[in-house]
Amino acid sequence: VSATVTGFSPEVRDGILDRDQNLCAMAGTPGCRGGQATEANHRLNRGMGGTDDVVISSDPANGCAVEHDCNWRLEHSDQFAEEGRRRGVKVILGSRPEDVPYWSGTFRQWTVLRPAGDGRASGMFLTGDTDSARDARDGVVCGSVESGFSIEWKEAA
Ligand SMILES: [Zn+2]
Repeated sequence: VSATVTGFSPEVRDGILDRDQNLCAMAGTPGCRGGQATEANHRLNRGMGGTDDVVISSDPANGCAVEHDCNWRLEHSDQFAEEGRRRGVKVILGSRPEDVPYWSGTFRQWTVLRPAGDGRASGMFLTGDTDSARDARDGVVCGSVESGFSIEWKEAA
């Protein structure tokens, strides 16, 4: 187990904020002011209770733009964190961030965040799926960078 897990570099953080157009990923949730996002939240937590994989942890696909207060709330409010998991803002241990749909408040649809590396295309990919009532944990990402992505939803239990 690696002891050193780094956060986002300043360049990656700025890229995440740009990608999300500085809109807080929790906008519309009670408690979120819907203000200017200034921080990048780790979707899959770093270190204890999260991933020790520095590559996954520090990749833009593992980040989303949040306000300072919402970043704090995601770690300290169970209700807020639950809404974060529903949106794919938070990813549970055992899931890979790139495989969990991410609700983009900027584009008002589900998106897929693909990591950099291996010379593959990376970034945010729109799916055209605008059903905001879905739960990211029920979504299975289908498709590819070349063909485009869609999300297959498991039937609610
Ligand atoms: Zn917020």
